[in-house]
Amino acid sequence: MIRHFKTARLQNSDQTDPAVTKAVEKLLAEVAEGGDRAVRELSIRFDELDRDSYRLSDAEIAACVDGLSKQERHDLDFAQEQVGNFARLQRETMTDLEVETLPGVVLGHKNVPIENVGCYVPGGKYPLLASAHMTVLTAKVAGCKRVITCAPPFKGEIAQKIVAAQHLAGADEIYCLGGVQAIAAMGYGTETIKPVDMLAGPGNAYVAEAKRLLFGKVGIDLFAGPTETLVIADETVDGEICATDLLGQAEHGTNSPAVMITNSEKLARDTLEQIDRLLQILPTAEIAAKAWQDYGEIIVCDTLEEMVQEGDRIASEHVQVMTSDPDYFLENMTNYGALFLGERTNVAFGDKVIGTNHTLPTLKAARYTGGLWVGKFLKTCTYQRILTDEASAKIGAYGSRLCHMEGFIGHAEQANIRVRRFGGRNIGY
Ligand code: NAD
Repeated sequence: MIRHFKTARLQNSDQTDPAVTKAVEKLLAEVAEGGDRAVRELSIRFDELDRDSYRLSDAEIAACVDGLSKQERHDLDFAQEQVGNFARLQRETMTDLEVETLPGVVLGHKNVPIENVGCYVPGGKYPLLASAHMTVLTAKVAGCKRVITCAPPFKGEIAQKIVAAQHLAGADEIYCLGGVQAIAAMGYGTETIKPVDMLAGPGNAYVAEAKRLLFGKVGIDLFAGPTETLVIADETVDGEICATDLLGQAEHGTNSPAVMITNSEKLARDTLEQIDRLLQILPTAEIAAKAWQDYGEIIVCDTLEEMVQEGDRIASEHVQVMTSDPDYFLENMTNYGALFLGERTNVAFGDKVIGTNHTLPTLKAARYTGGLWVGKFLKTCTYQRILTDEASAKIGAYGSRLCHMEGFIGHAEQANIRVRRFGGRNIGY
């Protein structure tokens, strides 16, 4: 039986807040019409940053990189090496294909990098420099020619550590722009910014909605909005580690759901006690407490099957599994952004350094997509050729009859002419 030990006051749904959609539509229209002028107005309005150009100069970028301490540079390089290595290995699995499917019939596909990509690196509440490795570096590994990137100012200044990470990840152009104005500037282009073909990267509800609304005009990676976490645990772990992992993600924002599924009421009780204790000492407790109060949930199940069923229903961005057999969830769960298997690893490792991508689906998008990876920056484009007259006449005859079934007479004629030329016969119906 599935029981709600602690219920959320608000429910995470698969719908964007209509007020956010309305606000974003208006801001997108302003940038589409006003170009650079509108981008500047919105940057002043939302981020209090007034510049003639929001593109950072080489000198500004160099100052950001030089401003890193030796340890910071070492840690950044290590994280980018891990993310880059895994992306390169994943790239190798994206092989081109060419096969002879019937005598004389050759079909193939090529993985072609998207040429112009715009990567958003969030930085409103925290300077999320890790998103630079996850987006810019991954796009570069895919082979994208022009990778431009935006991040908002942090506390009114250029976000120095983000810019250093964007540059070290290989960005071709770096802009100090945040929110909808950044997404719109990259998506529509302005007088000074050449538009991109695809937008990638996580962000708050406004950023995610702006990308969603621009989809079609440009490609997007996925719907990667406010962070969500799910902890699946049994009595092999204690309440302290569960509480730490729940609050550690709830600190992202007051709208970040943190949910626990367990088969132990005792663990559920311990976790609640530990959450109360940790909220007294966590420096980001104000945000985490609100998120936990509004969106925090503990679900108690009797069986592993029920735990999987609930996990798949929630379709969380992050799923931390700490049970006696974490691989059971790897084998059986189907809806999740990323799995963190066992007590030794955790979401923060994935967020910052271990090498898997942290740009992951939210608002139940995990039902239909995984997270960002090198493959999302590649277009798998097919091609075909026919090597013999016989194969052309054979496929042509089938094609002609099938075109007739649909009433496509012009299409049928394209096939017929080939049957006549390469097969030396007319098609009979
Ligand atoms: P952000 O960079 O996404 O957004 C900041 C920008 O929002 C500002 O520059 C401002 O222009 C705009 N903004 C703020 N208030 C606005 C308003 N009322 N109207 C219009 N625009 C407004 O930074 P953030 O706010 O700190 O959010 C980062 C988000 O990214 C968090 O929600 C975090 O959970 C999420 N995240 C998601 C993933 C994922 O993969 N899904 C990964 C990392 C982070």
